[in-house]
Amino acid sequence: MARDFYEVLGVSRGASEDELRSAYRKLAHKYHPDKTGGDKAAEEKFKEVNEAYGVLKNKEKRAHYDQFGSEPQPGGGGFGGAGGFGGGGAGSPFEDIFDAFFGGGGGGGGRSRANAASRGDDLEYHASITLMEAAFGSKKKISFNRMENCNDCEGSGAAKGSQPTQCSQCGGQGQVRMSQGFFSVTRACPQCQGKGTTVSDPCKGCRGKGQSKVKRELSIDIPAGIDTGSRLRVPGEGEPGRNRGPRGDLFVRIDVQEDEVFEREGTNIFCEVPIDFPKAILGCTLKVPTLKGEAELKIPAGTQSGTVFKLRSMGLPDLRGYRQGDQLVTIQVETPTKLSREQKELIQKFDELSSEKTYPIHKRFMNKIKSTLNK
Ligand SMILES: [Zn+2]
Ligand SMILES: [Zn+2]
Repeated sequence: MARDFYEVLGVSRGASEDELRSAYRKLAHKYHPDKTGGDKAAEEKFKEVNEAYGVLKNKEKRAHYDQFGSEPQPGGGGFGGAGGFGGGGAGSPFEDIFDAFFGGGGGGGGRSRANAASRGDDLEYHASITLMEAAFGSKKKISFNRMENCNDCEGSGAAKGSQPTQCSQCGGQGQVRMSQGFFSVTRACPQCQGKGTTVSDPCKGCRGKGQSKVKRELSIDIPAGIDTGSRLRVPGEGEPGRNRGPRGDLFVRIDVQEDEVFEREGTNIFCEVPIDFPKAILGCTLKVPTLKGEAELKIPAGTQSGTVFKLRSMGLPDLRGYRQGDQLVTIQVETPTKLSREQKELIQKFDELSSEKTYPIHKRFMNKIKSTLNK
């Protein structure tokens, strides 16, 4: 699973642009392939650091990431290609950084050769689920578009009996070098779109495209206790690999919808329940909503507005199943606003029968004020 971008850079969520930049510089130096001599783990770190900084240095992307835990995806739909490395799509600024270090003759080996098998890109899907689905887990049907290799040519785009040939513009590298100020930047080759090969005798089935967009439907298991921002990995459901490489993965990012009745904080849930004032005075058995349906709650006589009652273990499970949260019910005593004449008379009568003793909280408060004023 991808790590949190702030964690990757070792900074807090509130880090300033300067803090981000200096954290990035330190780490980029530390894991730079020139210094680590082709160490794979360091190379991965280096990619992570670049990916994290590529998003967080951009105000809009950072805001999006803070909200959704991912970088904005092109097209604005439910998902798009995630990752970006080796994807060949030009235009994102961090690919420039990456390519500048790894590209071409750098020897970093970050890009696949034209005919080598390589893993497909990962995809990300945003799934919006209800609080109930989060509380008890669920099977969720999702559907998304992904590329599918053509059956006739297995994705090569070349007609049966023929082979794609090496691209003449990039010599099969899939990328071309361009000078940009101090940097020599590599970009996806415009002639072959980064594939490194071109097709002279196109496949009839796909007219040489090799792949087409196909709707994919999946049923995924949402574990009980999941919260907004969690990512579920579905292996092998991403984009197809190149040259018979394996498919990438699908990441399902969870977004738990706001609930009308309950508020959630971790494994605990909260709700407010209004009760009639005579019931608060006399006490009652109150029916309260819980995630599992209605439950009965004993309200003792003389319950004040704002009193919180705990229903033990009626919250959400911990994602690892170690413990169950609680439900906290806040009582709101409702003051009637529309009374009949008779009701009004009864309340006035009640008031006449009341004394200081009827309202001890009020009395204590008045005493406090008096003693403060007399100081
Ligand atoms: Zn085909
Ligand atoms: Zn090319």
